[in-house]
Amino acid sequence: MLDFKLTTPQREVRPSDEETYDLIILGGGPAGLTAAIYAGRARIHTLLLVGPLPGGQPANTDVVENFPGFPEGIEGPELAQRFVAQAERFGVQIVHDSVTGVDFSVRPFIVRTDSATYRAHTVIVAMGAVPRRLGVPGEDRFFGRGVSTCATCDGFFYRDKRVVVVGGGDSAIIEGLYLTRFAREVILVHRRDQLRATQIYQERAFANPKMRFVWDSVVEEILGEKTVTGVRVRNLKTGESSVIEADGVFIYIGMEPQTQIFAGQLELNERGYIVTDRYQRTSVPGVFAAGDIQDPRYRQLVVAAGTGAIAAMEVERFLEMYPQNHQ
Ligand code: NAP
Repeated sequence: MLDFKLTTPQREVRPSDEETYDLIILGGGPAGLTAAIYAGRARIHTLLLVGPLPGGQPANTDVVENFPGFPEGIEGPELAQRFVAQAERFGVQIVHDSVTGVDFSVRPFIVRTDSATYRAHTVIVAMGAVPRRLGVPGEDRFFGRGVSTCATCDGFFYRDKRVVVVGGGDSAIIEGLYLTRFAREVILVHRRDQLRATQIYQERAFANPKMRFVWDSVVEEILGEKTVTGVRVRNLKTGESSVIEADGVFIYIGMEPQTQIFAGQLELNERGYIVTDRYQRTSVPGVFAAGDIQDPRYRQLVVAAGTGAIAAMEVERFLEMYPQNHQ
């Protein structure tokens, strides 16, 4: 994984279990960090719980080209780092700890991590989504040793090698193009004969001499003994199976929301995303959600940041409207 280090001082002061926050934000991606910036500036007593990847998905992205204000694009890790620094600047307490459970049936709400229990009058859930996995033989065995969901982290290891990229969306194309910097050939395996990716990325991919496309095909197995040697693919139109030789496999087949711990506490839709209204309110008053964990449709950085801002402003309103809940 990417060795992502913050250059700004981290506030690793462990809060006391007795302290009740006005707001706890769960998740330190673009949505959570934007919520933190807004909450900090509104002087809301806020704790931000940042999980394993400070800065969220941008921290694992090569270049972000569509976030306004950066006409030349900006490297994802740098943007992530800037988000964190900005939240810290406004006095938000940041703790690097993963949430293991919540209790939204009591007030103040309870948030548990491996090492502590926290209480808060309001919560913003912004834990994002994680890469979907193929679920085929060989995937788990070689994960981190030839199978990856992060080209920015692992692409360097494939200098002059052949890699397979699975998927046909923006991520598969952007990361596939990134891999052409290192690999001698990038073979994109997609289950249809048309890409889902944005047109500009498609044009770049088709123009790149290192990119090859295997259409209408799914990966059935990742092959190898000690290291990955290839993938077995099946053509969905002909039913034929064949082997593509490769040294690495990068999987970009979409994301899944991280909502397991909220099942039974917040209303989820049939795909497991948190249901919110246009004010980012969830089914529990005082609990808001922002970013990819509640957005199966757009999943864009700028949208995640926007919903984080809305959630924080609604928290401010909620705390003003129901002061009896938190005094
Ligand atoms: P995505 O848009 O959901 O695309 C997933 C791709 O994987 C699709 O092509 C899909 O095929 C394929 N797929 C899904 N399940 C599969 C399976 N089990 N086996 C084989 N293939 C499978 O996901 P994404 O590319 O990660 O993008 C997620 C969101 O982030 C999108 O909204 C995207 O626009 C956004 N994003 C934006 C940027 C940017 O810079 N603008 C960068 C990255 C991501 P089908 O096409 O047949 O469904």
